[in-house]
Amino acid sequence: MSKDWNKRTKLVHGGVRRSQYNEVSEAIFLTQGFVYDTAEQAEARFLKTGPDEFIYARYGNPTVAMFEDRIALLEGAEDAFATASGMAAVNGALVSMLKAGDHVVAARSLFGSSLYILEDILARFGVEVTLVDGVDLDAWRAAVRADTKLVFFESISNPTLEVIDIPAVAEIAHAVGALVVVDNVFSTPVFSKAIEQGVDVVIYSATKHIDGQGRALGGVILGTREFIRGTVEPYMKHTGAAMSPFTAWIMLKGLETIDLRVRAQAESALKIADALQGHPKLARVIYPGHPSHAQHALAADMAGMGGTVVSFDIKGGQEAAFRFLNALEIAVISNNLGDAKSIATHPATTTHQRLPAEQKVELGITPGLIRFSVGLEDAADLVADLLAALEQA
Ligand SMILES: *Cc1c(COP(=O)(O)O)cnc(C)c1O
Repeated sequence: MSKDWNKRTKLVHGGVRRSQYNEVSEAIFLTQGFVYDTAEQAEARFLKTGPDEFIYARYGNPTVAMFEDRIALLEGAEDAFATASGMAAVNGALVSMLKAGDHVVAARSLFGSSLYILEDILARFGVEVTLVDGVDLDAWRAAVRADTKLVFFESISNPTLEVIDIPAVAEIAHAVGALVVVDNVFSTPVFSKAIEQGVDVVIYSATKHIDGQGRALGGVILGTREFIRGTVEPYMKHTGAAMSPFTAWIMLKGLETIDLRVRAQAESALKIADALQGHPKLARVIYPGHPSHAQHALAADMAGMGGTVVSFDIKGGQEAAFRFLNALEIAVISNNLGDAKSIATHPATTTHQRLPAEQKVELGITPGLIRFSVGLEDAADLVADLLAALEQA
């Protein structure tokens, strides 16, 4: 395995461990534990596990290790820890390093469960959390303090696709000695440059583009070896949100094709954003990869392409949005993203239903807003499906 390989090669060959049978496709080590040759070996391994020595699947497993190594190679991180879901990764990254009295600054526009961890759980354990408008650099500057342990944000926010300036926020955070933790799902591991832009800890829900076919829940935390093995691993292995070996195998195979899939999805997303631009039934179309996006230059600089999600606001509010959703023939109504199948979501009544009305307004989650995760179908078919459904709105 070579660090000099280009991404597409790393995605196919990175992290491979072959058994004594020399199988071509990665093996699924569906085992909870491992046999020791002698009692002395068992004792030694509990004292210290070397590379490719395993004890128990909650601590580590060969298939899971293959996935961790492959995603770390893709991200350009020293190490990775795989988790049972994206939320286990968010929780593990934050809780493993925080203690009572610490201060956290986070962007307000976050996945609902991440907000719950910050506002409900961490607050109960005495962590002070300040929420800011993530695109307002002055707000970050005003919020960070000497006791700020970390800053947390989604590089491209859900569902309104605001782009946060990673290098600028990283500079503000590092100036007070805070770590930068980024939930990078919308930017995708394919377009991410997070580590080189100053991010210390990168988190993905593998449920999204890494699987990319809607089969399994998973997550991953990436960072320095010291952080992953010294801080994250002890917390994760004793609290139990390990990735199953079967899931790790799904995610490994997902990584083999992720570059092809996500680039194709992003190309289609741009075509869709283009086709919808200026449509009389739409109040606005949001796609970071389209020149009409307020932060297009930043998005291009940070992520190359604009991701795989297009959001748009249908005039006529919830009723019109529901008529549109019910008229779709190819795209399905659901709430995953990054899937091979195009998925349309009405955030106000589903993923963000829990939020009070004024918070929805603040976050731009209007009654007519649709989040459209672009799949692998033919782009022209998707455009036709969207335009026909808009006629029914
Ligand atoms: C889906 C998602 C999560 C949670 O991931 P799960 O795998 O569903 O636990 C966290 N953050 C973002 C931005 C997501 O899209």
